[in-house]
Amino acid sequence: MTIKTMRKPLILGNWKMHGSYDVNSELINALLTGIKTAKTAALTDVGICVPHVYLSHTEDLCFSQPLFYGAQDCSAFAQGAYTGDVSAAMLTEFGVNYVLVGHSERRLYQQETSNTVALKAKQVLLSNITPVICVGETLAQREANTTLAVLTEQLQAVLSVLGSDSIEKCVIAYEPVWAIGTGKTATPEQAQAVHAFLRNWLNENHVNGSVVRLLYGGSMKPDNAANLLTQPDIDGGLIGGAALKAADFLSIVAAASATYKIE
Ligand code: PEP
Repeated sequence: MTIKTMRKPLILGNWKMHGSYDVNSELINALLTGIKTAKTAALTDVGICVPHVYLSHTEDLCFSQPLFYGAQDCSAFAQGAYTGDVSAAMLTEFGVNYVLVGHSERRLYQQETSNTVALKAKQVLLSNITPVICVGETLAQREANTTLAVLTEQLQAVLSVLGSDSIEKCVIAYEPVWAIGTGKTATPEQAQAVHAFLRNWLNENHVNGSVVRLLYGGSMKPDNAANLLTQPDIDGGLIGGAALKAADFLSIVAAASATYKIE
């Protein structure tokens, strides 16, 4: 197995619209126990992205603990008459480390365009939080051989708004839409090919691609995590379903830690 040294892995859970105070406390406490027992913090950054209403509770449980936390979305605007929305600046009040932007469920159900996603990423960066920019193609787009064109359009919008220096402060998550929550995973080779394309695209566009963490997301589970995470350009995972079960999530974290060595 190739051991990586350049980028510390990041395993982020996306809890989506799941949880309650009781369930979250139990899950976070189990994750903290597992992370501390395995001494994970040196080898893998681990985080959870929770619904906005649970950020305060999550902050209480994770304060000074080896578990990062974040939100699943924010507004594309700094403030104003946007009923129901939450700004990136507001998220800083809860100490969040990451904000997901452009998750395919938001692109699909809230009709978010690539430009809106880019504006959200900009707000997140202005608040000194790390945006996790999600990109990915649908099944129809993959079958029409337009995967790379779709990813290029999604990234180009971000580059136009942020500029090349700021993209280096972001995490990019490649999430093929056909693999999210479906139990279908991209093969390690398919995922690696796209990740290599993404890193190369960054380099060609004056972004130092070697410093950008590229996560894979889409039905990553304990039984397929190692094969995905050992790919040279896969720097971690964005995990949906398996992030709701402590044992499964910790097993993916362990697979990530096994790929990394501190130089
Ligand atoms: C996700 O929601 O980002 C995701 C990858 O979900 P799942 O792991 O359930 O496919």
